[in-house]
Amino acid sequence: MNARDSKQDARSTTASGAPAPSDRNSLTIGPDGPILLHDVHFLEQMAHFNREKVPERQPHAKGSGAFGVFETTHDLSAYTKAALFQQGVRTEMLARFSTVAGEAGSPDTWRDVRGFSLKFYTSEGNYDLVGNNTPVFFVRDPMKFPHFIRSQKRLPDSGLRDNHMQWDFWTLNPETAHQVTYLMGERGLPRTWRQMNGYGSHTYLWINRTGEKFWVKYHFHTRQGMAFFSNAEAAAMAGNDADFHRRDLFEAIRRGDYPSWTMSVQVMPYADARTYHINPFDLTKVWPHRDYPLIEVGTMTLDRNPENFFAEIEQAAFSPGNTVPGIGLSPDKMLLGRAFAYADAQRNRIGANFHQLPVNRPKVPVNTYQFDGHMAFEHRGNAPTYAPNSGERGWSDATGTVEDGWEADGAMVRSAYTLRADDDDFAQAGNLVREVFDDRQRAALVEQVAGSLLAGVHSEVLERAFEYWNHIDAEVGRRIEEEVRAGTLNGIAGGAVTA
Ligand code: NDP
Repeated sequence: MNARDSKQDARSTTASGAPAPSDRNSLTIGPDGPILLHDVHFLEQMAHFNREKVPERQPHAKGSGAFGVFETTHDLSAYTKAALFQQGVRTEMLARFSTVAGEAGSPDTWRDVRGFSLKFYTSEGNYDLVGNNTPVFFVRDPMKFPHFIRSQKRLPDSGLRDNHMQWDFWTLNPETAHQVTYLMGERGLPRTWRQMNGYGSHTYLWINRTGEKFWVKYHFHTRQGMAFFSNAEAAAMAGNDADFHRRDLFEAIRRGDYPSWTMSVQVMPYADARTYHINPFDLTKVWPHRDYPLIEVGTMTLDRNPENFFAEIEQAAFSPGNTVPGIGLSPDKMLLGRAFAYADAQRNRIGANFHQLPVNRPKVPVNTYQFDGHMAFEHRGNAPTYAPNSGERGWSDATGTVEDGWEADGAMVRSAYTLRADDDDFAQAGNLVREVFDDRQRAALVEQVAGSLLAGVHSEVLERAFEYWNHIDAEVGRRIEEEVRAGTLNGIAGGAVTA
C-alpha cells in the first residue's frame, strides 16, 4: 500500500484487510468495564506498535537524506568502464547525511564527523559510496573500529559521554591525529549538510575497457559554498532545534533550492602504488593534490525529498561492498572490513531481505541465489534453487584472473602496513595545521582542543594529549598546553562539554 491508496480509503482496515471496528475505542464490558482479550484490532495495533522501530544504526544513527541525480559531465572512459561514469549518463541516486556518535534523537549540531553516504541506482546494479565529510579516518585497521566507536559513545556506569575516554583512545592510537585535527577544526561543525564537502575517503580501484587499472579517491565539493557554526552557535542550535540539519535539507528541497556537489577524482596509475612515498591505501592519509590533481567527473543534485522517512531513509541500507563493473575495492584494510560489516549491520537491523525493500532494490533485474528468510517478498516461482542446473536459470562461473583484483603475496601476518619513507602519523596533521589553516583557524583549534581537554580529561591522558599535539605541531601544542594549565589553575576543569 502506498500513501495515495490510504488517502482514498473511506475507513481503516485490519492488517488482514477486513474493516477495522474503531481506531478510537477499545472493546470493553460496559463503558467503564475491563478491555476484552478478543479485541483483535486493539491487540494487533499494540503488538505492532511494540515492533514499530528497528534497531538504530550503531554509529551514524542520526541522519536524513534525499533523492537526486548524478550526471557525468566529463569523459572518464580512459579510467573506468563503469556505466554511471560515462559522459552524459544520468543516474538516479540517494544521499544520506549523518553524525557518527550521537543516537537517533541526538542534536545534529554536536561537533562530529559527518557521514556522506551515496547510493547510485545504475544500469549495472547499485553502486554505494559510503564516505564522510573528511578525506581521512581515525584508524587504519578495522579491528580497532568497534573500540573507536565505543570510546566516542557512553560510559558503562553513568551512560554519559566522556572526553577522558575519547582522548584516551585517540592518544593511545596516534594514527588518529589527522582526523582529530580535522574534527577539532571548523569542519567539525558544518553549518548545514548542504554546505559541506564529501569524500569517498578510501582508495578504490577503477578498470577501463581494455582492462587497465587505476587507484582513485573521490571528492565531492559543495556548490553552495562551505559554511560552519562557531561553538556557541552550534550549542545554541542543539538546544533550539536538535533537527536543524535534517530540517534545512528537507525545507531547501521543498522550496526548490536543490543542493548540488561537483564530483572529482584523484587518479593514481596502478603501478605507482608500489613506490609512492606514503602508503596509498592508508585511510589516515590523503594523497597531496600536487601529486594527483583533481579530475572533474560530474554533478550530484538532490531534488526529491523522501515521501516516508522510515521507509526510505531509516531503512536505506548502504555498503561500500556494493560495487559495479569497472569499480573495485583496494587493499585498504578499513575498506575490506567495511565490505563485510555494513551489509551485516543491515541484516541485523532490518533483516536478511533488506535489499528487497523499494529504497534498496536495484533498478535492474536481480537473479540471486539467495532464498527465503524473514519477510521474503521476491521469488522466482519454481525456478531452480541451485547452480549449476539443467533448467533455464542462468548462473555465473568466472575463473582465472579477477578483473577487479590486485596482487598480494607474502606470509599471513597481523601487522601495521609496511612503513614507507613519509609514513608518519603526525606529518599530514601538521601540514593541515601549518599550511592549510590560517591564524584565525589555528587560534580556534587551540581554543577548541583546550576546552575539550579541560572538560574532564585528567591524569596521564592529559599528559599524553600534550605530547600528541606537540607531535602534530610544536607551536600549537605549546599553546594548547599553556591554555589547559592556566584553565586548570583557574578551576575550569570538570565541565560537561563533549569534545
Ligand atoms: P593542498 O594545499 O593542495 O590542499 C589543501 C586542501 O585542504 C584544500 O584543497 C581543501 O580541500 C582542504 N582545506 C582547506 N581548508 C581547510 C580547513 N580549514 N580544514 C580542513 N581542510 C581544509 O594540500 P595537500 O593536498 O598537500 O593537503 C594538505 C592537507 O590538506 C592534508 O594533509 C589534508 O589535511 C588537507 N586536505 C587534503 C586533501 C587532499 O585530498 N589532498 C583533501 C582535503 C583536505 P577541499 O578542497 O577538498 O576542501
